[in-house]
Amino acid sequence: MIEVKQFINGKMANAISNGTMQLINPATEEVIADISFGDGDDCTAAIDAATEAFKTWGKTTPYYRAEILKKAAQYMRDNVVEFATDMVHESGKPLAEAKGEWMVAANLFDWFAEEGKRANGKTIPTNRIDKRSFTTWQAMGVVGVITAWNFPAYNPARAWAAALAAGCTVVAKPSENTPFTGLHMATALVHAGLPEGVLNVLTGDAASIGDAMLKHPQLKKISFTGSTRVGKILMDGASATHTKLSLELGGNAPVIIYDDVDVSALSKTAALAKFRNNGQVCIAPQRFYIHENIYNQFAELLSAEVAKLKVGNGFDDGVQLGPLITLKQKQHVADLLQMAEKENGQVLTGGKMPGHLDKGYFLQPAVVANLKQSSALAHNEIFGPVLPIFSFNTMEEVIEKANDTPYGLSAYIFTNNIKTALNTAQQLAFGMVGINEWTPHGTELPFGGFNQSGQGHESGSEGLYEYLELKLVSIGAL
Ligand code: ADP
Repeated sequence: MIEVKQFINGKMANAISNGTMQLINPATEEVIADISFGDGDDCTAAIDAATEAFKTWGKTTPYYRAEILKKAAQYMRDNVVEFATDMVHESGKPLAEAKGEWMVAANLFDWFAEEGKRANGKTIPTNRIDKRSFTTWQAMGVVGVITAWNFPAYNPARAWAAALAAGCTVVAKPSENTPFTGLHMATALVHAGLPEGVLNVLTGDAASIGDAMLKHPQLKKISFTGSTRVGKILMDGASATHTKLSLELGGNAPVIIYDDVDVSALSKTAALAKFRNNGQVCIAPQRFYIHENIYNQFAELLSAEVAKLKVGNGFDDGVQLGPLITLKQKQHVADLLQMAEKENGQVLTGGKMPGHLDKGYFLQPAVVANLKQSSALAHNEIFGPVLPIFSFNTMEEVIEKANDTPYGLSAYIFTNNIKTALNTAQQLAFGMVGINEWTPHGTELPFGGFNQSGQGHESGSEGLYEYLELKLVSIGAL
């Protein structure tokens, strides 16, 4: 049994209350670690430490900070096997995906290390001859970063790298389901020379920690990745305290497939894209709208591809889908499938516990056809291995169906007609639109959603400015 402590002011620390919680491996259902279960008191101590640390970190140059961030990135690459192995234990995802995720996290640290050097202000011509005005960007101060379990390294890396490059100090709360990865990332930064208190990592009672972040006057902003439900709780709290927020919330991505595509090739890439990380991805391709001329052919080819996907323990060779993160998440997906069947949805493949496994939160990936737009599978964020398919006839009809959601994170369009592609993209109410591709994101690209999918952006240069305040300096009487 591994003991996991919090990391506060440069030291590993038990929870002030001495509370602990057990961590379960979702593939084996075994208890694998005893985790410190901190609360608002630990959070307040961490914010106090980060406030003290900001007095010096906030005055360093972006060049100094970049050296530390780049060393940390290299440490992540050097230790990728150990770090990825622990990620598989806590999250269940296949080892190759865990390694890939750590590499992307390292790239984010490298990228923000450089981007921090480019936070240029500007000089502005004024309407008076005796006046000069210019703007500068300055670090906000202490920021809180609360992240979800689906990408235990990528989610915190996006926010920590940007905030640290900007000159902020950080109080982080990774998901209680994936504490190993956040702590490994902290180890990399400490090894690279990050001073005490600049980064603090809490594990424990999310609601109490979130509340302490909102109430502490020195915590200037919360960056949150998670559900729309918790995003709303933070917005409610922030209305009383004026804490700034950036929110990366849920999604319900439509996939629009017109009838001029290569159906066979697309069914193969669709199966891989949809079930990456078991569908537990906020930009996961979710609702598939297939032109009626190719609906039957697509459904048949896609089901055959999905049936071939290998489900199992993330350490086993060739496994493409691990378990869902918790029993609760598996139940949520199973309930949606049951509702779809009640609505006359036809499960073409999957949806059951795989026959060769008797433990773990696994589900065989499913394809469900014969659904109406009113189906639960069109309106709920699935966050699991279920691919519902719907049919459409005209562009106008499919755009209306695609936009029929309070979410607005990502959307996908497949067609070989440039006019159809661009006209569709123009009318979709989503923050990220992929045309003939499944990965409309990247370290250098802004990631963010419309409507209830959140506010603000991560990654790209936009991600840096989330942690900087714009200051105007105006000189008169010249
Ligand atoms: P998901 O369903 O993706 O896990 P959650 O929104 O439940 O999304 O969790 C995302 C993160 O938010 C996790 O780190 C979780 O511990 C944290 N969290 C959960 N509830 C609260 C809350 N009331 N206040 C602040 N953070 C919370």
